[in-house]
Amino acid sequence: MRTRTRSRRAAAWLAPSALAVTAVTAALVVVPRLTEAGPGPDQGPARALDPVLAERAAGKTEGVRKGKPRPDARDVVLAVHGGAGAALDRETTTPEREKAYRDGLAEALRAGGKVLDSGGSSLDAVEAAVRRLEDNPLFNAGKGAVFNADAQHELDASIMRGSDLAAGAVAGVRSLRNPIEGARLVMEKSKHVMLSGEGADDFGARHGLRTVTQDYYWTQARWDALMRAKETEAGKGRAARSPEALADAQSMGTVGAVARDRDRDLAAATSTGGMTNKLPGRVGDSPVIGAGTYAKNGTVAVSATGAGEVFIRGAAASTVSNLIEFKGLGVAPAAYEVVVKRLPGLGGQGGVIALGPGGDFDAPHSSPGMLHGYLTGDGELITKIFPDESPADS
Ligand code: ASP
Repeated sequence: MRTRTRSRRAAAWLAPSALAVTAVTAALVVVPRLTEAGPGPDQGPARALDPVLAERAAGKTEGVRKGKPRPDARDVVLAVHGGAGAALDRETTTPEREKAYRDGLAEALRAGGKVLDSGGSSLDAVEAAVRRLEDNPLFNAGKGAVFNADAQHELDASIMRGSDLAAGAVAGVRSLRNPIEGARLVMEKSKHVMLSGEGADDFGARHGLRTVTQDYYWTQARWDALMRAKETEAGKGRAARSPEALADAQSMGTVGAVARDRDRDLAAATSTGGMTNKLPGRVGDSPVIGAGTYAKNGTVAVSATGAGEVFIRGAAASTVSNLIEFKGLGVAPAAYEVVVKRLPGLGGQGGVIALGPGGDFDAPHSSPGMLHGYLTGDGELITKIFPDESPADS
């Protein structure tokens, strides 16, 4: 019944309509702003793959451009994001909506935190956190994923383990209930890193992952967003399709998680429905290892959100790691350098959550907002959804 309703509505965009395009909700995060120069102390000794720390100890950090000097938080064990985009307005956001976003982030943190508390791996923790966010219709991943231009859902996800650089990803899946489970399956049960489309769906189903019909992902909010995008496209022609316009108006709600466990192993995971009104077959940065997701012991775990094409072109997530490894930057300056200084020059906004092996955490973003939260070793749980909690470019 619902499908038929949507099909009728789908015809509406074939002729220009009068639907108004409204601001997209966004959510964001915080961070204390500190002023000392130089890379933060971060980490302490890491177990593996850590030439960075050796370099830093030897004082080889001259010539490095300094970004944001200090982390937003320390002793973080798990962090999540709920997407970058327009900012949630404190004045107009209802208490119910604020609570829904904060609860959604907090539930994901608790799900992953439980894994870590019981001695589980960072890999299990990020999968648990992202799975929870995929199940929450507020976010653009799993249930609640955005629609592509054909009013279909095609989902992307990836996961990476820092101890051995093992990674898995799925792109353009249409029937896996939790794409992050598909990504993990590819990592552990295939000899490949990424499977796409039908092959990925079939692979997941064959291995017993839960499958759903397209209706499962449906939400009214995402449908309305597609209608607005169609109207914008019809009204503004080609200009409305620039990567910047797409990122600004249609990107919001991608989810991700980064974690470190008792063994100081890092892991990262990202999941998304992509961008509203994307071309069928379009794959963003979220399933691309090195762009939307990266984790390497001794340097950093990163999950990105924002204008996917730009994050791919800028090799965003792995560049954060490389700046730490090869330039000796701390987590915060490295993430800031990539997200705030470099990517906007390529024409796209967004943000990352970045976690070092010693617990240094930062969440820089160039978009007006980025929803995020983190959990510390002491059990402190923080969520940040308004711009005054997490200013852009910080
Ligand atoms: N990066 C995602 C993509 O391009 C979208 C987002 O983060 O909102 O598919």
